[in-house]
Amino acid sequence: LVSRKHKNDNTIIDVNGAKFGDGAPHYIFGPCAVESYEQVAQVAEQIKNKGLKIIRGGAFKPRTSPYDFQGLGFDGLKILKEIADEFGLAVVSEIVSPSDVEKAAEYLDVIQIGARNMQNFELLKAAGEVNKPIVLKRGMSATVSDFINAAEYIHSRGNGEIILCERGIRTYETSTRNTLDITAVPILKQETHLPVIVDVTHSTGRRDLLIPAAKAALAIGADGIMAEVHPDPAVALSDAQQQMDFDQFDQFYNEVVKK
Ligand code: PEP
Ligand code: MN
Repeated sequence: LVSRKHKNDNTIIDVNGAKFGDGAPHYIFGPCAVESYEQVAQVAEQIKNKGLKIIRGGAFKPRTSPYDFQGLGFDGLKILKEIADEFGLAVVSEIVSPSDVEKAAEYLDVIQIGARNMQNFELLKAAGEVNKPIVLKRGMSATVSDFINAAEYIHSRGNGEIILCERGIRTYETSTRNTLDITAVPILKQETHLPVIVDVTHSTGRRDLLIPAAKAALAIGADGIMAEVHPDPAVALSDAQQQMDFDQFDQFYNEVVKK
């Protein structure tokens, strides 16, 4: 169902007026994790002031170590919902449990399925049964074909509103957190009719590479960019190394978004 052979026209997914797949780039910015109302509100204000439409923030954080911050769960989703209403933004947040999908849909505009869950087939099926757009991230060890099959799981259950997100894969290279598979973008766009975005934060893991990686992604045909922004990255409860502060966000906006 997701194949171009099945449907040749690009699927366009409207998130609060940002139409992913319409040929123009769209942006998803926000903190790695929801830490407090104040923290998310500060980021929301920056996003709103730039005329952007969407905020992200993780409430269920799939952390590599069980001792790391796990997120605020549904309390985090409630914070996001309040902020979305106050600032007129749409909210993207990751859900990790199939049984949370329906309830989470009451708070969210877009449900994210993270890299670690790309082949959680029960979660994919649950995502296929809600009436909400899904951001599906590529698994860090998934081939493009695995990725397309994961999207097919969602579509086959009835939900065709899927935004594919390349977020880097594991390779032997250690100079970046993951290796951004930039050619996956045109391959996914040739093989499917779905919008494709690039997460420059988790792919590179390096603040100094966010702008060049975003430029490369847009040049190769990505429909949008995801990147993390935090009021004070040094004290962030997750991904302190790679989130942008507000000055860096301004620079990113000026060099990538405004152009
Ligand atoms: C995220 O976007 O918050 C995240 C955890 O990313 P990924 O699933 O790509 O690692
Ligand atoms: Mn993160």
